[in-house]
Amino acid sequence: MDRKEAVRLCVCRMCPSFVDCGEEIVFCMAVNSKSGCISKEKGCLCPGCPVQDWEGFQHVYYCIRGSEAEQH
Ligand code: SF4
Ligand code: SF4
Repeated sequence: MDRKEAVRLCVCRMCPSFVDCGEEIVFCMAVNSKSGCISKEKGCLCPGCPVQDWEGFQHVYYCIRGSEAEQH
């Protein structure tokens, strides 16, 4: 899945942990590592996200713990 499509489908903005500081979403494929402003784990919507499913990703809290590649 290309990044543009992933940005369209990413549900981070609806997540209780999400803090909007103008960052690029799709933290599971983040190029510049973790979020600089999300730090409290208040739930994660990644399980059930179409990007997660399509890519076969298996981790959560990418914004805080790092991308799929970083968590492997
Ligand atoms: S798996 Fe999580 S970080 Fe990745 S696109 Fe979906 S909601 Fe966003
Ligand atoms: S990576 Fe998970 S915890 Fe972080 S904002 Fe996206 S859905 Fe929420």
